[in-house]
Amino acid sequence: MRGREETRAPARASAAAPPRDADVLVVGAGMAGLSLAVALAERGFGGRVLLVDAREDWDVDDRTWCSFAVGPHPFVGAVAHRWARVRVREGGRERLLDVGRTPYVHVPARDFYRAAFARLGSAKRFVVRGGVRVDGLVPEPGGVRAETSAGVLRARWAFDARPALPPPGGTPRLFQHFRGFFVRTEAPRFEPGVATLMDFDVDQGRGLRFRYVLPFAADRALVEDTYFTETTFPIGEALLEDLGAHVVEREEGGVIPMTVDRFPVRPGIRRIGLAGGVAKPSTGYAFEFAQRDAAQIADALVRGAPPPPFRRQAFLDEVFLGVLARDPAEAPALFYRLFDRNPPARLVRFLSERATPLDHLGVMASLPKRPFIAEALRRVHARAALFGLA
Ligand SMILES: Cc1cc2nc3c(=O)[nH]c(=O)nc-3n(C[C@H](O)[C@H](O)[C@H](O)COP(=O)(O)OP(=O)(O)OC[C@H]3O[C@@H](n4cnc5c(N)ncnc54)[C@H](O)[C@@H]3O)c2cc1C
Repeated sequence: MRGREETRAPARASAAAPPRDADVLVVGAGMAGLSLAVALAERGFGGRVLLVDAREDWDVDDRTWCSFAVGPHPFVGAVAHRWARVRVREGGRERLLDVGRTPYVHVPARDFYRAAFARLGSAKRFVVRGGVRVDGLVPEPGGVRAETSAGVLRARWAFDARPALPPPGGTPRLFQHFRGFFVRTEAPRFEPGVATLMDFDVDQGRGLRFRYVLPFAADRALVEDTYFTETTFPIGEALLEDLGAHVVEREEGGVIPMTVDRFPVRPGIRRIGLAGGVAKPSTGYAFEFAQRDAAQIADALVRGAPPPPFRRQAFLDEVFLGVLARDPAEAPALFYRLFDRNPPARLVRFLSERATPLDHLGVMASLPKRPFIAEALRRVHARAALFGLA
């Protein structure tokens, strides 16, 4: 069952409560944790903020964060590459979209970490401790206790970015899993101005699959082999075969849950990042939504209010996810229609969850009626059953 979504404040501390190590404890100084800390610093949060992470090294390029540049956030200065056009391919056809007003942008992880640490370095009372593994978070009167490899830490609020999957809530669930190769080709193979978001003209034998290509130059790109499937499995190097002579300079990979399920809420503890459900269920994009979540949490804490739950425009996503899970063979054509039959600005607003009600109507009108209406009815029925109404 899905958890209640509001974050409750911990019970009041008694007079003899042990001292706190921080007002805000952030567990996991990765994308979401650092984004939250920076959002707090930007707003002049006056409390003590302690970030702990099992890792000790942030001088790494372990992620390629891309999103449409739909709004300001503290890491705009770390954008390393912009694409004014994006492409989708399916069944031998291709759709090119001009997204120049809200380009598709790339923030390399190393630059993101540097920007975050630079910002936090000048913020008073913000501390990052690497090499600290958190094994458990326990609500207690007046706050939260963290059991860590460096002993017990106490705080008023804990924000938990440790990777974890919410319990199944009876909704469709897929995993976006991928393996990406940073390649340099001998001959020019790429079109530097166009990011290929989804190229479905690849073997679909193991499940819904597409090629994602971020060209940095005519002979340099990130080529990613991506699956949306119910289970994960090893991904080989087959997609590199048609590149001709090339070298792989480095690799990245990951698994992103595509789900609308959430963890049950515990007093004083708020999940953030992928574990907090920020990844868009129908696409797996998370960076932009984590920035929005960080801003909303920071706004609340600065006001002295509890952190609000992460909210999203979820129903159409839940339906979309259900259709993808039920009929993956039809999914390439669905995505193609989505890109083909919506103006770029509406599509970007939809993918970035800035869609107006009119945009939603437009998106719905662009999709085939029968599978979506059937899935929407299923989802409504499932929700009614959840509340004992069906
Ligand atoms: C290779 C890759 C590329 C991606 N590209 C995109 C993209 O282009 N666009 C997009 O929107 N999303 C993308 N994502 C998805 C998502 O944005 C990232 O996964 C993002 O890093 C999620 O942020 P997070 O804070 O939840 O997790 P992380 O950034 O992974 O941070 C979690 C942190 O918790 C720490 N940690 C874990 N366990 C413990 C513990 N027990 N104690 C203490 N610390 C712990 C980890 O060391 C880590 O630093 C990508 C993901 C991957 C893996």
